[in-house]
Amino acid sequence: MNAKRDRDSTPSPPAAPAETTAVASEADRLARRLRESEERLQALSEATGYLVWTTPPDGQVEDMPNWRAFTGQSEQQVRGWGWLDAIHPDDRAGIAEAWERAIHECTPLEGEYRLRRRDGIYRHFQARGVPVFGEPGTVREWVGMDTDITERKALELQLRAAAREAAARASQLEVTFEAITDGVVVYRGDGSIAQMNAAARAIFRLMAPEGFEQWPIGERLQLVEVYDGQGHALPPARRPILRLLAGEELTGVGAMDVVFRSHEGREIWLSISGAPTRDEDGAIAGAVAIYHDVTARHSLERRARDALTALLEMAETLVRAPDETAPLEEQAGEAGAIAQRLAELTCSVLGCSRVGIVALDAASGRQRPMAVAGLADAQRMQWWVEQEQALPITESPFPELTKRLLAGEVLMLDMTHPPFDQLPNPYGIRALLIAPMRVREQVVGALSLDHGGEPHDYTPDEMALAGAVAQLAGLVIERERLLRERAAAQANELALRTANQRMDEFLSMASHELRTPLTTLKANVQLTDRRLVALGEGKPRIAKRLGPARELLKRGDRQVDVLNRLVGDLLDVSRIQSNRLELRVERRDLAVIVRETVAEQHLAHPDRTIVYEGPARGTPVHADGLRIKQVVSNFLTNALKYSAQERPVSVALCMEGKPGCRLARVSIRDQGPGLPEDELERVWERFHRVPGIEVQSGSGVGLGLGLHIGRTLIQRHGGQVGVESVVGEGSTFWFKLPLAKD
Ligand code: ADP
Repeated sequence: MNAKRDRDSTPSPPAAPAETTAVASEADRLARRLRESEERLQALSEATGYLVWTTPPDGQVEDMPNWRAFTGQSEQQVRGWGWLDAIHPDDRAGIAEAWERAIHECTPLEGEYRLRRRDGIYRHFQARGVPVFGEPGTVREWVGMDTDITERKALELQLRAAAREAAARASQLEVTFEAITDGVVVYRGDGSIAQMNAAARAIFRLMAPEGFEQWPIGERLQLVEVYDGQGHALPPARRPILRLLAGEELTGVGAMDVVFRSHEGREIWLSISGAPTRDEDGAIAGAVAIYHDVTARHSLERRARDALTALLEMAETLVRAPDETAPLEEQAGEAGAIAQRLAELTCSVLGCSRVGIVALDAASGRQRPMAVAGLADAQRMQWWVEQEQALPITESPFPELTKRLLAGEVLMLDMTHPPFDQLPNPYGIRALLIAPMRVREQVVGALSLDHGGEPHDYTPDEMALAGAVAQLAGLVIERERLLRERAAAQANELALRTANQRMDEFLSMASHELRTPLTTLKANVQLTDRRLVALGEGKPRIAKRLGPARELLKRGDRQVDVLNRLVGDLLDVSRIQSNRLELRVERRDLAVIVRETVAEQHLAHPDRTIVYEGPARGTPVHADGLRIKQVVSNFLTNALKYSAQERPVSVALCMEGKPGCRLARVSIRDQGPGLPEDELERVWERFHRVPGIEVQSGSGVGLGLGLHIGRTLIQRHGGQVGVESVVGEGSTFWFKLPLAKD
């Protein structure tokens, strides 16, 4: 920008030669200095990338060497307004206008534009120009310096994008933080709460009064009690938040399962994980804790467990042999207590608020209250009177419903809708479920249940379960009725025999009928297990936590199998009693049967030592293979269950007898408690269990039927059974079967 420096020098009058020479040399000197400063400016401009320029006061460019060097424009091209051509078309108008305004107003020029470099690439420039004033009120020239701000601009853009992204991230994080379904709480080092999400606020609301999160930690810890999974109160130092603030990490398996009890006694099961947060120096600055509400899971686990236990208890009540040593009237007197127990069990199985059991007299159609669970004493008496005074079922205002009930259907009555909303409803029940209790196709009573004023939709599962429970209840009640009948007949020998016979018949019928509820029970156990599996699907941590509940269900499943076996025993006994036990005799190899049974027991009890001594094969017998297997299995499971876990059990098979009358002898020896002399005969009796002998390992509700059935089976095969035993050392139960002749 080489404004012509002599352009505004005013013409001076002609001078004397000497003076002229002096003036001329002064002018030269000034011109040289001017050139030098211009060259310096040029060098500076080149070195720094600044475009330095000057123009006359009217702003008409004469030359801009840096500009030309940068843009590749010629001196001709930059002249006047020509320089504008090198500016980006979109920026031209803006910069031209700013320049014109500056000239017009004599104010500094400020602006930004993109300038085309000689290689065609546009660079961002910031223009700054100032008027240089000469005589007062006049502009002598314009000086400017345009700065290449491309890098800065890019940096700015980057920074702006980064800031935008950071803001988006932060709001994303904020939304995510709020949306996390687990409670997340960020603590400061002093235990005060820095931040918490909606789920955490909801959990805190359940536990404590409004504003609790602002309390100092000491007061917070005092208000809410915390227990471990076993129900022991946690000392303050073991409380999750203090452990976190002390630097412990509660992650993975280290997560704590705790119960929070609120000041109002409400319990929340939480699985708490988290970690301390640290500052740059590694010192603990606070902690982040994640509260996972597992209350629902726990109540599901508990319900599954309760339901299972209750159902098993019910089924066991039914198959339990009557205590034949107790006076008969005492046996019969249990009826009320058993019905009451059943009502309570049903309440817990179905999680309802009230269960009533009434017996139905077939002849009169009248109902007799037997038990009610879930009512306070005063209400219970009222209920009792109401049932006693109720119309006989034959006079019910809803004959259609009565018909369906008598046909075995489980009914659901919506008490809030006609016609049932017209009925007296002292307990404010919304939905009432009535399940018939049937024995031999006859309705002997009904079980009713409800959830009080709570709205409740009964699922088909629940209705099926209520039906199964009512069926069990019916059987139990019928059994009690027969026991009462037997007690009444005690004086009369003939009547007693008839009563006993009826009891045997009942046992046979009950064992058949039990199969159905047991099947339902098994299906329910499996269904619950499937639900637990679904709960944990894709969530390995939850699946792991559900492990114990599933283990319980598995155990329940095994118990159902045990019950099935017991029912099988009952059936066998009733078959034996009525001479209906049939054998499918074929030629079988006894050694193979024994070895198979040993192998099966090995599988079922992998941690027990069971030794077999005897031939692998070659012991032919004429026998019902399944029945012989049942005997070996009974002796063997007894040996296992009545002896300690670490004690071995040995099974031996050998031949005895003279040629022509050879016998195979199978003996099973344990190192259990042994039997006293006077028990050696009695153990074979029906329903006999030796007092004082406890199950040592495994599960084993026994009815005292296995040995009785075993002896009968072996005798029917023409064999013998026996036991040798020493108290404190162990027992050897054996049987012998004649070998088949070639
Ligand atoms: P349970 O199902 O009760 O075991 P069993 O008829 O198989 O019925 O056995 C009858 C009773 O004999 C048992 O209750 C137990 O008291 C006793 N008993 C059976 N086997 C043994 C054994 N190996 N050791 C000690 N006692 C035994």
